[in-house]
Amino acid sequence: MSQYFDSHAHVNFSAFKGDGEDILKQCLEEGVFVVNVGSQYSTSKRAVEYANKFKTGVWAAVGTHPVHLNKGSFSYRDPEEEISEVEIKTNGEEFEREKYLELANDAKVVAIGEVGLDYHHFEEGIDTDPLKEKQKEILKKFIDLANEVQKPLIIHCWDAYDDLLEILQNNVADKKGIVHSFVGSYKTANKFIELGYKIGLNGIITYGESYDRLIKEIGLENIVIETDCPYLTPRPLEKSKRNEPVFVKFVAQKIADVKGISIEEVAEKTTQNGKEVFGIK
Ligand SMILES: [Zn+2]
Repeated sequence: MSQYFDSHAHVNFSAFKGDGEDILKQCLEEGVFVVNVGSQYSTSKRAVEYANKFKTGVWAAVGTHPVHLNKGSFSYRDPEEEISEVEIKTNGEEFEREKYLELANDAKVVAIGEVGLDYHHFEEGIDTDPLKEKQKEILKKFIDLANEVQKPLIIHCWDAYDDLLEILQNNVADKKGIVHSFVGSYKTANKFIELGYKIGLNGIITYGESYDRLIKEIGLENIVIETDCPYLTPRPLEKSKRNEPVFVKFVAQKIADVKGISIEEVAEKTTQNGKEVFGIK
C-alpha cells in the first residue's frame, strides 16, 4: 500500500468536532499521514493536542491565518464560484509571541502556519492599505518565530504573490517551507521554488484544466499534496461532501494523470517531500 502525506488539513476545525480522532485513526490505517494546521491560537492549540494523541503519523502546525488578524467577517466563495457564499467571522487576533512560542516548541509541531497574506477576503468598502501592512508585519514576526524554533513555514497567500516574494527575499526563513493551496502560474511557482519553497496542491487542481500547465511545468520534487479539509473537496466527489485527509489520493491521481506517471510514484515522492520539508525522519 502506498503511503500518502496530507501536508495541510484542518481536522482540528469544528467541522470534525464529533469525529476528528476517528478520522485521524482511519487516515493512519489507510496510509495517510496528516499535518493539522492552525488558523488562530485556539485551533493551533487543538492541532497540537490531536498530534499528541498519536505516536506518529499526525503532526501540527501553529499560526494565525491572515484573515484572522482583522476583526469582522467576509464572505467566502467556493473557487468554482457556483455554490453560495458563506459568511466567515474573524476575531481580530493579535500576535501573541509567547503563547505561540510555547506551542511551537512542542515536538509534534513541524511548521509555523498557516501564516501569510490574503488580499482577497477583505470586507467591502474598507481601506485595505493598513490591513495589508498589518498582514506583512505579522508575517515577518512569524518568520522570526520560525527561525527561533528552526521550523519551516506553511504559507497561505491569495492575491498577494508579489508582496510575498518580496518578504521572503528580504526576510529569509532558514527552513523555508510550503506555499500552500497554490493557484498562481508556473512562472510564479518557479520563483518560490528558486527560493527553496515547495508548492502545495489540493482539490482546486481537480476542478478543471486550469492548473494542468502548472502541474506539467513544475517538477514532482517541488510538490507536496494536501486537502485543506474540510474545504475544497476534490472531484469526482460531490462538492457538498465534507473533505477529509484520505481524499488527498484524488489530488495525487490528478497529478499522476497530468504528468503521465503512476499514482504510486506521486504518493512516494510527495510523501518524501513532505517528510523532508517538515524534518520528519
Ligand atoms: Zn488551510
